[in-house]
Amino acid sequence: MSYLHDRLLYSLKLGYVKTFPRDVEKLLSIGEEIGFSDIEKLLREQTHDDSEKPPYFVTFSTFTSEGPTKCMVLNPSLSPAVRDRLEKLAKKKRISIVSLDEIPPKLRGEICEDFLAERYPTIRWNFEWENYVIVGVPDGITEDFVYEFKTTGSEFLLGYMERSALAQGDLYGFFFRRQNKRVQIYVVNQAETYTWHEKVDTNVAISLLKAFKRFDETREFTFPEKWKCRNCSFRRICKQKYR
Ligand code: SF4
Repeated sequence: MSYLHDRLLYSLKLGYVKTFPRDVEKLLSIGEEIGFSDIEKLLREQTHDDSEKPPYFVTFSTFTSEGPTKCMVLNPSLSPAVRDRLEKLAKKKRISIVSLDEIPPKLRGEICEDFLAERYPTIRWNFEWENYVIVGVPDGITEDFVYEFKTTGSEFLLGYMERSALAQGDLYGFFFRRQNKRVQIYVVNQAETYTWHEKVDTNVAISLLKAFKRFDETREFTFPEKWKCRNCSFRRICKQKYR
């Protein structure tokens, strides 16, 4: 779906079409002329404000036995003085402060990215590789590198995440044709961001794609680490899981 959405939207932006036809066949053929130079052009046109400040906090509401409760998550990079002022304000307004490790991992990742990730322009695009179409949207793309930001709960998980995040950087670098990858992982229990800035390894990207193709063709999958099954949202329906 994102594939078609991008083709339609970018065709409009690039001036390849002015309106969309009602005929489905014609609609599906829109965007066939979009090339990589067009994607670079759209990326360069993005307005990007380097001075954009990350938010100090986010708020949301939850429902507890005492009724609706307003909660606040503070940006971990705040200075102690600002944090102190916000905590006092929250107390006065009866807003509960929630720490990052109380938030489900997916949402926590999104919040941390908002709070802590470096700001670069980016774009989503799809790439043909053999019989597949690979859709990718890095967290940032500059002339020189692709950027990816991730969050993990603890240093134990950092080692696992490092490998997959760097491999993701290699895939993005391969498809978006960038020399380098910049990867950052924020570790919640250490309140620390780890950074890698390295050359893109296209051999890693190609071997991953070949491994993906092999799994897809044979449907013979390797087992994940046991602990991944314990926390997996597909656990209830998965037949492969570790018990
Ligand atoms: S429960 Fe199934 S889908 Fe989830 S990690 Fe384990 S094997 Fe993979």
